[in-house]
Amino acid sequence: MSATPQAFNHQATSDCEICGAQIPFLETLKNKDRSLPICGAIECENVLKQKARMPEASFKVYLASHQRVLSQRKQRIAVKEEIRKQEAEEHQQIFEHMSRLLKGSNQQPSHRVVIPSGQLELVPVDQSRIDLYRSHLESVIDEALEYENVSQAPDDHNQHAHQKLNDQQALFERRPDVKAISDNLCMLCKGGCCSKGENHAYLSASSMRRQLDSNPGWTKEDLLEQYLSRLAPSSSKNACINQGNEGCVLPRELRSSTCNYFFCSSITHYQKLAEEKNLHAPVLAIQRHHTLWNRNYDNAPNDITNVTLVSEMDTHDLDVPDEFKAPRA
Ligand SMILES: [Zn+2]
Repeated sequence: MSATPQAFNHQATSDCEICGAQIPFLETLKNKDRSLPICGAIECENVLKQKARMPEASFKVYLASHQRVLSQRKQRIAVKEEIRKQEAEEHQQIFEHMSRLLKGSNQQPSHRVVIPSGQLELVPVDQSRIDLYRSHLESVIDEALEYENVSQAPDDHNQHAHQKLNDQQALFERRPDVKAISDNLCMLCKGGCCSKGENHAYLSASSMRRQLDSNPGWTKEDLLEQYLSRLAPSSSKNACINQGNEGCVLPRELRSSTCNYFFCSSITHYQKLAEEKNLHAPVLAIQRHHTLWNRNYDNAPNDITNVTLVSEMDTHDLDVPDEFKAPRA
């Protein structure tokens, strides 16, 4: 190997006229044939293409609006990245701190898992939400009735999740401790991933067809009733209509395969690592305030709420070290 590609990255000579990013060295060569120096990103190339197609004055306006949008987006990404780094550093420091404290005991954590938090505030389920849920269910049941069995149903997110459930099951049979710890982590989080379930609960035509295949006597009304009768008077604010204070109001067999399969990326990562590196209990759960889908939304601080030692049988709350309690500046 004679070339050292990394060196090129440090030879950026100027900034992109469209997005303001540093121009990599190789792009500066291409810029000799361009009417504006750009970074080579597809978006910037596309904006530049319009230069030849538009009158100069219109292009100026068009360019200014793209410059604004791209620079704002860049700023948001940079802030998020900064927060991500800062949080990762905090996680590492907490892990090291707790590992030192517990050193020599059988409580020393083997791994850290960062988990979100479910929406815990309950609000009454109003009729408009129930109507939306009912109409979603009716539409997916109607579609399910067009198929003879689930193999004919569309290849949707639930079909994919259902196929992967077997692999997950096999892992849990090999490592029941990993299943127990994963369940305990979910219990601590209380549905940080359910917040996107809204009024559809991820139920699709294939979910409904699967129900009808398992219960050949059920009519459309029976199936609808199975779901609607489970609704509680209140559910978590801004989350899934089925998310109550005890978790999902649906029994596991009525939930979507997506819900049955899903673990957030930090738990999935832990499961994989537990097998690969033969990790054992306990793990250190570091919980942050936001749900899985609104982390650092609008760059709001996502404070650490709990640090917990999680084993197969139980969970044990630890004191959050003082230096991590104060809101970040
Ligand atoms: Zn650019």
